[in-house]
Amino acid sequence: MVEHTVAVDGQGRAPELVDGPGWSRPGLDVAAGRYPLSVERHVMRMVDHLVPGVTAVTPHARYYALHGLIAAQAAAEDLTVPAAQTLLRRSEVALAAVSFAHHPQALEWLPRAHGVDALARRLHAGTVTMSEAEVPGKDGYVRNSWGFWGPYAGSEITLGILGTGPLPVPGPRLDTATLRAGLGGLLQLAAEDTLNVDDLASFGDRLCVCVGGERPDGAWLANLLCEPDAQAGQGARSTTRRQTIQLLTRVVATHPVRRFTRDIGHVLAFGDFLTTDAVTSGIDAAGAWRGVVLRNYSVGAWRRLWSWLVEQVDGLLPIEEVADRFAAELPDMTVDAFLSSLPATQSTTGAPLPAEHDLRWAGDPLPLRELRVLAAGARRVDELSGRVRDAFLGRRGVELGPEWVQRRLDEARPMKLRDVARRLTYDLVARSQRIALAKARRRTDGTLWLPTRLHERGGLLYRTSQEGRGDVGLRLDQLGTVLATCGVLHYDDQHWSVTRSGRALVD
Ligand SMILES: [Zn+2]
Repeated sequence: MVEHTVAVDGQGRAPELVDGPGWSRPGLDVAAGRYPLSVERHVMRMVDHLVPGVTAVTPHARYYALHGLIAAQAAAEDLTVPAAQTLLRRSEVALAAVSFAHHPQALEWLPRAHGVDALARRLHAGTVTMSEAEVPGKDGYVRNSWGFWGPYAGSEITLGILGTGPLPVPGPRLDTATLRAGLGGLLQLAAEDTLNVDDLASFGDRLCVCVGGERPDGAWLANLLCEPDAQAGQGARSTTRRQTIQLLTRVVATHPVRRFTRDIGHVLAFGDFLTTDAVTSGIDAAGAWRGVVLRNYSVGAWRRLWSWLVEQVDGLLPIEEVADRFAAELPDMTVDAFLSSLPATQSTTGAPLPAEHDLRWAGDPLPLRELRVLAAGARRVDELSGRVRDAFLGRRGVELGPEWVQRRLDEARPMKLRDVARRLTYDLVARSQRIALAKARRRTDGTLWLPTRLHERGGLLYRTSQEGRGDVGLRLDQLGTVLATCGVLHYDDQHWSVTRSGRALVD
């Protein structure tokens, strides 16, 4: 069984499913047809609220610092936009090359520096010609003329590193002297005509993406992210971010954590640690996290189920045939019996039990498995309370939400599960076509363009490509690696821990 949490690739390209207005351009999700059932919005909004300053495409602390340094340099030298772009791109090429020289093999705990994959041929050959590598386009390290600033820009503004402007401009929290002390060497390398990989190795322990935690720029960023001196009323967003970091570091300090989303997400969703632990029980955001991680199981279930249905459509297929294939994957039982067969979702003390997690590992065929995950989520509607429930439900009365599933299953108790699945197939196809139509655009030649991979014509379905089934990212992986590369967390022997300086910032 493969469950992808969609991560950023080495070039920092948009992952299959990205999460946030922080970086996404309006219409990007439309263009990719990425949200065919439109069930992701609530989780994406909540994550954006809970992790301000980090997105699904910002895994590296040192890019925050580098872009700040570029802003300072551009201001000091009164650079034009093209000149600032060139300086930024050359510096990012230098950062990629130094990082490759420091560890030619990818690290287990950190994505590669942005652009390393695109530069791989040159890096392995040992020489990077700056004037070629920095040119945006298919032969350069990046396609965008602003390099990898785009993915980070919103976060850098949120954190006060940058102000808003047509180029990176210093924000209120920028500390030029510190950034120069940490990353000034990159500006010197950026001025070189040629970078020789062997010669760069000696810069690795100062300038690599992996060593920010031991450098002045890392300490500076850690302080911005954790806000240890935050005054009450300094802003809801920084308060929430601090709470999320406190939560993450507390789980890391008390549990074996190797992968952030997988291992921390489990503690956030299930069990009684959040309410019994002396630290986490005092963190307001904990309840919202619990609700949103639980809800994400349902969102992921819809995405997997839909992807499976679309996969069935090979060639032109009547919708009845797809509905029958869905039904054939399910046991011959009533909905009532199906609901009774679900594992317990709550302990005797009221703590959520890991039903959805266990169901995903139980080995049932995908449609049955994900239907059971949805039913487990529906049962939580009456079990959760307070902030957890609010964060779990989101906006009320929404189609395909947990309450909707609960009502549908409850009404169908005497019916056969297979018949419910057939009806659901029609509902989902209708919904996907409605959503695609709502996002449709008129092409310049006058024809209608529909952002969907599944099309219907006269009761026959056909698909143009496969549908994604990755989970909505909770940004815990990115927050984790940003914290690691600014010195709050440390990875050793397949295990994360909180550093001494990290503890001082969050306690
Ligand atoms: Zn390194």
